[in-house]
Amino acid sequence: MTAGARLTIDLAALAANYRLIQGRVSPSIVGGVVKADGYGLGAVQVARTLIREGCRHLFVALQSEAEALIAHVDNVPVYILNGLLPGGEAACAALGAIPVLNSLDQIKRWTAQAAVLDRQLPAVLQVDTGMSRMGLPSDELASLLAEPAMLGRLDLRFLISHLACGDEPADPANAAQEAAFRRIAARFPGMALALDNSGGAFQARSRFDLVRAGIALYGGAPGTGPNPMQAVVSLEARIAQLRTIPAGAGVGYGLTFQTARETRIATIPVGYADGWPRCLGNKGAAYIAGMRVPVAGRVSMDSITLDVTDIPDEHLYPGALVELLGPHQGIDKVAADAGTISYEILTQLSRRYERVYLPVAAQRSEAA
Ligand SMILES: *Cc1c(COP(=O)(O)O)cnc(C)c1O
Repeated sequence: MTAGARLTIDLAALAANYRLIQGRVSPSIVGGVVKADGYGLGAVQVARTLIREGCRHLFVALQSEAEALIAHVDNVPVYILNGLLPGGEAACAALGAIPVLNSLDQIKRWTAQAAVLDRQLPAVLQVDTGMSRMGLPSDELASLLAEPAMLGRLDLRFLISHLACGDEPADPANAAQEAAFRRIAARFPGMALALDNSGGAFQARSRFDLVRAGIALYGGAPGTGPNPMQAVVSLEARIAQLRTIPAGAGVGYGLTFQTARETRIATIPVGYADGWPRCLGNKGAAYIAGMRVPVAGRVSMDSITLDVTDIPDEHLYPGALVELLGPHQGIDKVAADAGTISYEILTQLSRRYERVYLPVAAQRSEAA
């Protein structure tokens, strides 16, 4: 390994997570959210794995992401959650991606494109039910309902909205958004509906026609309780260098770690440029042979220093493996230590890591 660390992406665990969510929400179906390059894990590999499990709806955030993905997904529809940016209409139609229309302006521009092409264009309509981020606000929705012919040239596939507090099942905002969504949906009889993300999929209530699952597929906890998902990523660095320093020495930038005893320091070649949060200086940890080793000093751009004084010698040598993400600390733990969420840990994972994809077993036997 010449990279600083190896990122292992377990596609069998991803597939198992898809099946677990599908089993839970059935008869609703599960669409895969693969924005931000599949939450940092590789949109093409993730999408192809989900398609093998039966997934027939894929969501990205940006048209550029749809452009990179669509040739690899065998005609499975790719929806663009962030909507139709001005100037992208002709390219979006030519690509065959399906925009989520979030405003009257977007509806008008997509309709104009349909007129130019003299055919219906597929679309998803998003309404805001309380998050105030994307989707038609209530005044624009009222205008649309007053003039339904505005949708005449569009082939609407879904009416969707998005939960602000899906990961907090007890929050009354969930029920309020669900009620608002039902009221709006009543004005679009027969339309397929989708409200829930991963968090919503694990709430105790009905789920409409489609669930848009992201983080739970990738092993992140979908809510506040115990996490039922399998871990998908593991990250292992190798010790680059070892040293023993006396009591009273400083470690790293700013010398913010001061040794209280003779201390053994292992340096690993992963830093904040690899997406390991800099705020984990003197705070986070790694694991060597299952034993916790605290970060000593600041996280540098390309390296981290670990206090390995309590680790038996046999585990300490250049090249020895250090677990950064794995069975002893997963993405939710590292995120909690860093004061963030697993989504951010995943989407910041470095392009510098060596990447290894563990295949789904069935894929191997199919290929054989
Ligand atoms: C990102 C996103 C999702 C997926 O959310 P998770 O919490 O990762 O499951 C679903 N819907 C929309 C509109 C999103 O932006």
